Amino acid sequence: MIALMDHKLITSIPLIERYSRHNEDEDWRFRNFLKHHLKLSNKELDAIVQEETDTVWSQIDCLSCGRCCRELEPGVDDEDIRRLAAMEKMSPGRFKRERTHLDDMGNRVLNGLPCVYLGSGNACAIYADRPKACRDYPYLRDSDFRSRSISMVSNVGFCPIVFNVWDALKAKLGRRPRERRKR
Ligand code: SF4
Ligand code: SF4
Repeated sequence: MIALMDHKLITSIPLIERYSRHNEDEDWRFRNFLKHHLKLSNKELDAIVQEETDTVWSQIDCLSCGRCCRELEPGVDDEDIRRLAAMEKMSPGRFKRERTHLDDMGNRVLNGLPCVYLGSGNACAIYADRPKACRDYPYLRDSDFRSRSISMVSNVGFCPIVFNVWDALKAKLGRRPRERRKR
């Protein structure tokens, strides 16, 4: 048991990975609690998630992280392909052939890790034109958090924003105080 950094955000990736590994069972129990037992409507839960997301995101600078741009291939839809192709002065067909591929799940994603558009200081070189998946990640602002909570558990050990929002939700809605987080 530890009582560290209560109410302080954790942004160290090694620490986040360690906590997530140790708390995996607890995280799944909390996910089941959210999904099946929490006595709040989807709208009420989404409002709480938004509030916690705003609080956490205002304190975490993605430019000091950039992990998603280094380690995840962003999905692209036809609209993204048209926009990026125009930006690169290519036809959509050529952009699709030369700059994207299907991943293991059959989703079309941009080629290249780290992302070819990742610039210095973790800045996105095509910020205004970036794919929708990049704008939406880590999907905490989408509606119906309850039905998407399964993907949150898999992201808890990856994205510092998700980790801290999830932790805040456990402290707020779960049945244990935050200081019971395990080493
Ligand atoms: S969204 Fe998450 S993983 Fe991506 S840069 Fe921000 S904190 Fe890091
Ligand atoms: S397009 Fe920009 S935001 Fe998206 S992964 Fe690449 S660098 Fe990151």
